[in-house]
Amino acid sequence: MAPIPGSGLAKGLAVTLRTMTKKSVTAQYPDVQPELPPRSRGVIGLFEENCTVCMLCARECPDWCIYIDSHKETVPPAAPGGRERSRNVLDRFAIDFSLCMYCGICIEVCPFDALFWSPEFEYAETDIRDLTHERDKLREWMWTVPAPPALDPGAEEPKELAAARKAAEKLAAQQTPPATTPHADEQARAAEQPTRPQGASKQQTDQPKPDAPRADEPGPDQPKPGESKPGQPTPGQPTSDQPTPEQEGQE
Ligand code: SF4
Ligand code: SF4
Repeated sequence: MAPIPGSGLAKGLAVTLRTMTKKSVTAQYPDVQPELPPRSRGVIGLFEENCTVCMLCARECPDWCIYIDSHKETVPPAAPGGRERSRNVLDRFAIDFSLCMYCGICIEVCPFDALFWSPEFEYAETDIRDLTHERDKLREWMWTVPAPPALDPGAEEPKELAAARKAAEKLAAQQTPPATTPHADEQARAAEQPTRPQGASKQQTDQPKPDAPRADEPGPDQPKPGESKPGQPTPGQPTSDQPTPEQEGQE
C-alpha cells in the first residue's frame, strides 16, 4: 500500500512535539559538576603511611602499570640486648594511568589499606607521560577519597574502631586523677581522735548536757530559790500548826 503523502512529516512533527514537553536531562558539564555515586572509580589514591612495600599490588596488577622501588633499612633494637630488625623503605610508588584499566584488583589485594578509589576524574593530560602519577600526586588524591558509607543499624563495630576506642578509653582512665580520698595523715589523725557521737561537736561533748541536772542545782521537783511550791512553806515562814508570836503572847 502506498504511503499517504505527508505522513512522514506528520510523524516527525509528532516526535518533536512529544520531546519538547519532556524535561531536559542534559548534564551541563563542566559548568555543573556531575553527582557521582560513592564508589565511582576515578583515580587511585595512596595512603603512604599504611604501605609496607609488600609488592602485592604490583604483582597482581594485570597491566603491570604499578612501579615500586624500595630499599632496606636496619632498625636498632627497641630494648638493650634485643635483635636488630630490617624494614623496607619506599623510594618510589607510581601508577601509569595511561595503561590502567580501572579493574580495582590492586585496591582489593592490598592487605594494609594503603590504596583507595577517589571519584576524581579530571586529570586528562596532553602528554601521555604525565599520566604516570608519582607518590606525591597519589598522596594528594587521598584527600579526595570520600568517607566510607555508614554501617547498617545493628552492624558489628569494625575491629580497627573497637581497638582505637579501647586505647582511647585506657588513656583517658590513666590521665583522670583518682577520686577524692582523704590524705593518709588525715586518716591517721582521724583514727587517733576519740570517737564521739555523730553530729556532736567537741564543745558539746565536754560540756554537760543542758537537760542533765547538776549536783548543786535543784531538780525539776525542787523549788528554785525564792520560789515556793503550793502547799509547801517558804523557808522562814511559819507553818499553820506553829504558833505565831501574837498567839505566844496571849498564852
Ligand atoms: S586498577 Fe587494575 S590495572 Fe589499574 S593499577 Fe590497579 S590493578 Fe592495575
Ligand atoms: S599491596 Fe598495599 S602495602 Fe603492599 S605495596 Fe601495594 S600499596 Fe603497599
